[in-house]
Amino acid sequence: MELRIRNLSKTYANGVVALDKVSLTIPAGMFGLLGPNGAGKSTLMRTLATLQECDAGSVFFGDLDVLDEKDEIRRLLGYLPQDFGVYPKVTAYELLDHFAVLKGLSHRARRREVVDGLLQQTNLFEVRHQRLGGFSGGMRQRFGIAQALLGDPKLIIVDEPTAGLDPQERVRFHNLLSDIGDDKTVLLSTHIVSDVADLCANMAIINKGNVLLCGEPQKLIDAIDGKIWARFVAKHELAAFQQQHAVISTRLLTGRTLIHVYAERDPGAGFEPAIADLDDVYFATIAGRHTAAVNR
Ligand code: ADP
Repeated sequence: MELRIRNLSKTYANGVVALDKVSLTIPAGMFGLLGPNGAGKSTLMRTLATLQECDAGSVFFGDLDVLDEKDEIRRLLGYLPQDFGVYPKVTAYELLDHFAVLKGLSHRARRREVVDGLLQQTNLFEVRHQRLGGFSGGMRQRFGIAQALLGDPKLIIVDEPTAGLDPQERVRFHNLLSDIGDDKTVLLSTHIVSDVADLCANMAIINKGNVLLCGEPQKLIDAIDGKIWARFVAKHELAAFQQQHAVISTRLLTGRTLIHVYAERDPGAGFEPAIADLDDVYFATIAGRHTAAVNR
């Protein structure tokens, strides 16, 4: 089912505009909402998860009015918040079983089946009788997905799920998310480009409460291809290059500084054409260099 967000706005009491007329159409499958810290992702996620009020706008999931029919939406919703806390002294099985009761799974044998199934799906079955306090960050996030999947939700919202995971755990978590199924609408918020590159059929880039870019990752990469140029620079040269060129990213590679610039034509000065990737799309967009058509 499709999630349609129209002109959603939110200004906090301190005057911060967290969402500024956000409009997005999110089809079934995995959708990545990419943006730096403070972009407004969590505000959007919490609003969609019916946990926070917005000031204006509308959101529909199929025919359901998300902002108005909160109880109905909650029945279809699985949510993994950014700061998912667990009770450290209870076991994975006990807590998931408890959440299952809260979700209305009152039939004991059926509940056991569901809880065991989810623990298996998230690769936690072997450790189900261990206390959550002893779980690693990755195990805890997988437990978070298990609880989000209770009740067979149609809309799944995961807020910054891979922040703080080591590379191996991140891959494991990606595999888990990619198995959730194409018939569900999964909204993944992240500041990590590879989360989106690895997983998402559709994406949007958000910054300062505004949607800057939206579309299929490969198409967004194709649109920028031929406009990204790279070269190594010495550290003391960096400031001058930043003044003369539209530098979108700098990173260290084997101890040297590699810069990418955005330019319609060959900027000369020793730059080589680079094969564009989603990092380039993201950094060029956030730097305000790239404004491909925003398709909402
Ligand atoms: P993200 O999830 O992308 O990091 P947030 O939605 O958490 O972004 O925050 C968007 C902006 O709103 C930030 O500037 C943040 O400081 C501000 N903000 C978030 N929550 C509150 C709040 N409860 N009160 C005031 N400002 C807030």
